Amino acid sequence: MNVSDRPVQPIREPENWAPDSWQAREAIQQPHYEDQAALGAALGELSERPPLVTSWEVLTLKRLVAEAQEGRRFVLQGGDCAESFADCNNRVITNRLKVLLQMSLVLVHGMRLPVLRVGRFAGQYAKPRSADTETRDDITLPSYRGDIINAPAFTPEARRADPHRLLRAHSHSAMTMNFTRALIDGGFADLHHPEYWDLAWVDHSPLASEYRQMVDGISDSLRFMETLAGEALESFSRVDFFTSHEALLLHYEQAQTRRVPRQWGWFNLGTHFPWIGMRTAALDGAHVEYFRGIRNPVAIKVGPTMQRDHLLRLLDVLNPDDEPGRMTLIHRMGADKVADKLPPLLEAVRASGRRVLWVCDPMHGNTESTSNGYKTRRFANVAGELEQAFDAHAAAGTRLGGVHLELTGEDVTECIGGARGLVEADLSRAYKSTVDPRLNYEQSLELAMLIVRKSGG
Ligand code: PEP
Ligand code: MN
Repeated sequence: MNVSDRPVQPIREPENWAPDSWQAREAIQQPHYEDQAALGAALGELSERPPLVTSWEVLTLKRLVAEAQEGRRFVLQGGDCAESFADCNNRVITNRLKVLLQMSLVLVHGMRLPVLRVGRFAGQYAKPRSADTETRDDITLPSYRGDIINAPAFTPEARRADPHRLLRAHSHSAMTMNFTRALIDGGFADLHHPEYWDLAWVDHSPLASEYRQMVDGISDSLRFMETLAGEALESFSRVDFFTSHEALLLHYEQAQTRRVPRQWGWFNLGTHFPWIGMRTAALDGAHVEYFRGIRNPVAIKVGPTMQRDHLLRLLDVLNPDDEPGRMTLIHRMGADKVADKLPPLLEAVRASGRRVLWVCDPMHGNTESTSNGYKTRRFANVAGELEQAFDAHAAAGTRLGGVHLELTGEDVTECIGGARGLVEADLSRAYKSTVDPRLNYEQSLELAMLIVRKSGG
């Protein structure tokens, strides 16, 4: 049956769920807090703080995700692997916004589709780790788990899980949101002024002339439409931006979970669009239990070990009524696995008739270590996974409705390749990420152009 012909079932409050019901399940990837009294005090204060987002925004986003599920929007989700408190500053926030706006302009122009912009920011502070501890020179300490938990320096003090960081993370998220909202409301995202988003590369990049041509084309179309309308068109003066993060640290997420007047159920009001990481998607685990009960649109990362039945069960548990806009699946297979691993999952979900938005994360399956000890990703592999994902969807009769990227508006050297041909030896020049390597501004634009070419734009 065609998905959009299916009757929408009544949508109910989930049974036997409460914001803390996850605590009865196994919660992996959580820190160990020695000072339980300090943890309780921090969580108490957090749960009294005003929300970062509103239920209206969350429900608006859900409608927009539902449109993306129907092929009427393309999702661009991007930002840091791990935000850091130190990067909560004017330059980093504006540059990240600039690169996302530039990319969405390329996508809108090339795909002729509205772009739904979702930042991986204002809360992306908790990281899953492959090991609980790290050993250097015979000294073993807890792993760095993100600024919301501890600090990256390799000392016992820095690596201690500090409950006060929960409050600092919330404050930094609020500052990031506040500045982002103010920029957008103040006209920073105005399509009449794409020069506001210029970054240094625009003057000297091999991609610059293609980008300039697009910007000029859009400005011409805008002038043409406004001449016809006889007035400046308000809707081109602002864009919407939504926030997302991996809802990993469940005590923090619980403290952001609220009821709202005149709405049924519970909302996570610490972000618009939380996701479940690949390591925490166990059906009977604490993360799935927590996500089951919130009304936000939610996403799950889907890696190469995901089995069809597990995925279908996750959809049953997280979206029993097949509500439009509720579920996004972000596949992250790796360039060498995507052609094998993705098609059976696409087929299984298609055959189940369930509504999902498929998004490709071409970053996390392509991480490798260089001989000089850097964690990196090759642009060719990132691009290769994305291209193969478009092909797999075309062959399966499904639709790739978005991309999920780790990127920055800074001129970092963390990923190899791209138009500038970065090589291993360049990595030491400007490697700033504390966790995973990000595309720099130029590599991000190049990927946006590739998406347009591959999607037939
Ligand atoms: C991430 O998004 O930074 C991450 C850890 O991803 P995944 O869960 O896909 O490994
Ligand atoms: Mn990452």
